[in-house]
Amino acid sequence: MQGKRIIVTGGAGFIGSAVVRHIIRNTGDAVCVIDKLTYAGNLESLAEVADSPRLRFEQLDICDRAGLDRVFADFRPDIVMHLAAESHVDRSIDGPMQFIQTNVVGTATMLEAARNYFQTLDDAAKSRFRFHHISTDEVYGDLEGPGDFFRETTPYAPSSPYSASKAASDHLVRAWKRTFGLPTIVTNCSNNYGPYHFPEKLIPLVILNALDGKPLPVYGTGAQIRDWLYVEDHARALYLVATTGVPGETYNIGGHNEKKNIEVVETICTLLDELRPRSDGRSYREQITFVTDRPGHDLRYAIDAAKIGRELGWKPQETFESGIRKTVEWYLDHRDTWCKRVQDGSYSRERLGLGGKAK
Ligand code: NAD
Repeated sequence: MQGKRIIVTGGAGFIGSAVVRHIIRNTGDAVCVIDKLTYAGNLESLAEVADSPRLRFEQLDICDRAGLDRVFADFRPDIVMHLAAESHVDRSIDGPMQFIQTNVVGTATMLEAARNYFQTLDDAAKSRFRFHHISTDEVYGDLEGPGDFFRETTPYAPSSPYSASKAASDHLVRAWKRTFGLPTIVTNCSNNYGPYHFPEKLIPLVILNALDGKPLPVYGTGAQIRDWLYVEDHARALYLVATTGVPGETYNIGGHNEKKNIEVVETICTLLDELRPRSDGRSYREQITFVTDRPGHDLRYAIDAAKIGRELGWKPQETFESGIRKTVEWYLDHRDTWCKRVQDGSYSRERLGLGGKAK
């Protein structure tokens, strides 16, 4: 059978680029990346697959309806995997409106472009078409008791402008299924970590600050618990859901790896002490600094990922111990290349030889 044709929005971001690398390397499918290339978009994260004739790139804002209509008509996707979003909680506290624009208005615009395109398909193509919306477990708010888990049926209670905007977008996606019959699927995932993660997020920030001799900032006492998933495990789960998931369903995706933030930071310090010891022989732990907690900071997130395991046969391949070691090694190997170019801002200026409308 001919490979599928998949639009990946946000394909130059952290998780989107992992999805694109996974599809190009492991399937015969064709991918069209739609990405505006905000500060978080980096075509260098696609360098490993940039030579593939099955990959093309469109620099486009997901709020640009005319541009989306052109790409849908031209590329004729079987599947849309929608990851483009503003994704950083601290930025959503500093400036919420961009989150409403991209995550809410942008998702509505994507849904309308997909619905318009869907109506042009014959019955066979309609039965294959999927709109897969990638969301977060942060829509559920936080958990009280140690035995509680987020399930697909957990009521929404978002805390930050980021999670509220993602919650709004999830509701829109489900409404387009119910009202218009668009075959949508939603996934809600826990915190991801791994290669190509933008250095403003906790794990890459701690690795790079440690190596630079800078303080390692930990909010409050570091007691916040997150359920960490290696990004390549998430990419595998997303492809499985997009290609075998049932329209109208929601799947939670998680790593079964609950860790306190302080434990994560200490684990990184221990790995760096082993792999790249400080020149003075002391531990990187000495650089840990506790800073004022974020307003509205959720205490605990933890996912019950039983449904995707039971119904689609997915389970993560990495434990936290194996994934965090791979991550630290990747940042050590790419400190002078990918990381340096992100930190000095030169990363988004050069475009790779990807097809399409890269400027
Ligand atoms: P990211 O910030 O690394 O990447 C977002 C990408 O979207 C970037 O390439 C950016 O250029 C692009 N983008 C932003 N605004 C755009 C617009 N208006 N039009 C087109 N492109 C635009 O984010 P990420 O961490 O890779 O997250 C991807 C998705 O997964 C998001 O929807 C996020 O909510 C969700 N998610 C993330 C996590 C996590 O731990 N990072 C966990 C669960 C779910």
